[in-house]
Amino acid sequence: MTVNHHPHDDLLLSYAAGSLSETWSLAVASHLSLCPECRRTLELAETIGGILFADMPDERMSLDALDHVLARIDQPSSEAASGNTQLSLDKRAIVSTTFPRVLREYVGHDVDDVPWKSIGGGAYQHLIETADKSARARLLRIRSRKTGPQSRTSRKRVDARSLW
Ligand SMILES: [Zn+2]
Repeated sequence: MTVNHHPHDDLLLSYAAGSLSETWSLAVASHLSLCPECRRTLELAETIGGILFADMPDERMSLDALDHVLARIDQPSSEAASGNTQLSLDKRAIVSTTFPRVLREYVGHDVDDVPWKSIGGGAYQHLIETADKSARARLLRIRSRKTGPQSRTSRKRVDARSLW
C-alpha cells in the first residue's frame, strides 16, 4: 500500500501527547503503522516531549499519589471513555497487506471480510464503532483514479482513506 497523504504535524504532536480523541487516535495509529516517515516525526515529537518533561520542576507528591496511579492502571477502559488515548502502533502491518492490528481490532474483520456498504459511484464505506462522540470513523473503499464522495459538513469525520 502506498501512502500518499500524511497527517499534519500538530495531529502527530497531539497523538504523541495522548490528547487525541479515540477516533482520531485510531486514524493516526493506523496511519503510523504504515508510514515510516510519520513514525520518525512521532519519535522526534516524543523525544522533545520527554526532554521538556524532564526539565519541569519537581513537585512534591502526596503520600497517596502512587495509590491513585495504580488505581488508574487497573481501569483500562476509563482511558478510552475519556476520549484521551494513544493507541499502540502495529509495526507488523508494515509488511502486511492486511489492516494494522489496531484497526482490525476496531473493525472486527480484515480487509476482505469487511461488510462494505455501497455509497454510490463505485465507492463503499464501513462505519467503525467507537465511544467517541466528537467524531465518526469510517473506512472508505474506492478504486484508484476515482474521486471521493462529497463531504457532509454536519459532523467531523475521520476517513481512513485520507490518511493512508
Ligand atoms: Zn505519514
